[in-house]
Amino acid sequence: MKITAVDAIPLSIPFEDGGAGNGLMPTRWDRLDMVLVRISTDVGLTGWGEAFGYFCRRSVVAQIQDLVAPALVGRELGDPAALNDEMQRRFALFGRYGVTIFALSGADIALWDLKAKAEGVDLATLLVGKRVREHIDAYASLVRYADLEIVSRFSEKACEEGYRCLKLHEITMPEIRASRRAIDPKMELTIDVNCSWTEAFALQVLPELRELNTLWLEEPIHPPEDWDALRRLGAHGVAISAGENACTAMEFSRLMPAVNYAQPSVTKVGGVTEFMRIVDLARAHDAMLMPHSPYFGPGYYATLQLAAATDRIGYFEHLYIEPAAFAGGEPLLPQQGQLQIPTRPGIGFEPDLSVLERFAI
Ligand SMILES: [Mg+2]
Repeated sequence: MKITAVDAIPLSIPFEDGGAGNGLMPTRWDRLDMVLVRISTDVGLTGWGEAFGYFCRRSVVAQIQDLVAPALVGRELGDPAALNDEMQRRFALFGRYGVTIFALSGADIALWDLKAKAEGVDLATLLVGKRVREHIDAYASLVRYADLEIVSRFSEKACEEGYRCLKLHEITMPEIRASRRAIDPKMELTIDVNCSWTEAFALQVLPELRELNTLWLEEPIHPPEDWDALRRLGAHGVAISAGENACTAMEFSRLMPAVNYAQPSVTKVGGVTEFMRIVDLARAHDAMLMPHSPYFGPGYYATLQLAAATDRIGYFEHLYIEPAAFAGGEPLLPQQGQLQIPTRPGIGFEPDLSVLERFAI
């Protein structure tokens, strides 16, 4: 099977979250900027992937067009991991982080989708032979509201809908306390501050976070790759997590000893190939992964397949917003806080062409 085309398909899908959209992203966040990757072949099979594109859609598209497509068009599909390694070597001089690896990640997911479709099996079965589960607990990942009333309301709503775990992106304690009060005491609570705190401030609030029964504190400090600081913060009774901004298993081999939960993001880390290498690392460190997956396209489906391929994944991250449409058509959403993992060949994503047309940029 020969690769005949690699296309980047940028989409921008508006969403509602009930808040003001400020704080979490560089500017107001009210649209999902996605870059789908479509790989076509001479046998008529099509693979779909997703490259991380929030606030960087145009540069990711350029990397796919200028670097990824020339590296893949005309090649035999063969082994997706080998193609990934070859791309990493060719692209090394552009850096092994950020948009270059995001673009490569999207292509890698599409290559694995193709490979599984060619074999007539779902991706998890292709990867490990036998699926380890058919569903996974999702946690509701709330955006940052910075508003006591709104964060309480949405925390309570997620609890009532049957989620057993909640993630906040709040960075101030009053909102965190209000959320804890609004939910069932048995519900797990995690706090993601996206590198907003200093080590000194984190040390100041860790005792209270422990009292609030915080399952993990995510990316507490800047820079996120200050492994020594993360290791120090992990000594205060609250698990520390990080990794959504780390790329390749090489970097996770340094991160893993410093945190309790590592958080690879399949659309950023180097795709399925690098993610599965991180699963091997997790097994070697006897550690659990809490993947980063606040997206709704092929990256969402690929993360579900990875959850069916390993019991090293704890929870699935479900971004708790309402998109105007889903690139995969009929939305695959948690029911009572649980997601069913698709069994159809490939990653399980089939595009809704009318959505692609309507939200194309
Ligand atoms: Mg995060």
